[in-house]
Parts: sequence; C-alpha cells; structure tokens
Amino acid sequence: MLSETTLSDLRASLEQERSDLRARLGEMGLLSGGDLAFDQNFADSSQVTAERGEVEALAGNLRESLTDVEAALVKLDNGTFGACESCGQPISPARLEAKPAARLCMDCASRR
Ligand SMILES: [Zn+2]
Repeated sequence: MLSETTLSDLRASLEQERSDLRARLGEMGLLSGGDLAFDQNFADSSQVTAERGEVEALAGNLRESLTDVEAALVKLDNGTFGACESCGQPISPARLEAKPAARLCMDCASRR
C-alpha cells in the first residue's frame, strides 16, 4: 500500500512532469494539436524532411507521456492510482516511484 507521503510526492512529481511536458509541447506549437510550424520555403529539403520526422516522433512521445501523466493524476484524485490497468493488481511502489505515470504492473508491461 502506498503511504500518504509517497502519494503526495508522486502527485508533486506528476504535476511537475505535466507542466514540463506542456511547456515543451507549447514551445513546439503543438498544444492545440495543429500542424508543426516549418518554413515552407525549405519544405523540399531532405534535411528538413528528416528533421520533421524527428520532431513528429518526439511530439508523439511527448503527447503520449502527457496523456499518461494526466491519467495518473485523475487516478490519484479518484483513488484508483497504483492499480494495473490490465490486471487490476497493485503496481509495485518501486515501479511507481521510478515511473509515476505507469499504467501497467511489471508483469503486464513485460507481456506487451
Ligand atoms: Zn498487471
């Protein structure tokens, strides 16, 4: 069972992570879900194409992390935090401390 202290520490780090992720997505102009801003004059350059691919991959990761972090904060509020979304078993505190936004227990995560 997670102690109140651990839970409030995890909440603090999740809130920190959420604002970091929002800031990074905001810098990339991605919070609204719009297209990435690139200079159209260079749209044909293969270097820009490669960069765009990298940025899109990064943006996808950031959005995914943000979704996980927001889901974890909702679960903290409704008291379901720390339960595996697949099997319902408690996720180990060590795993949650390493990755507060984890949705799956170690077993389920390793089966994917
Ligand atoms: Zn599980």
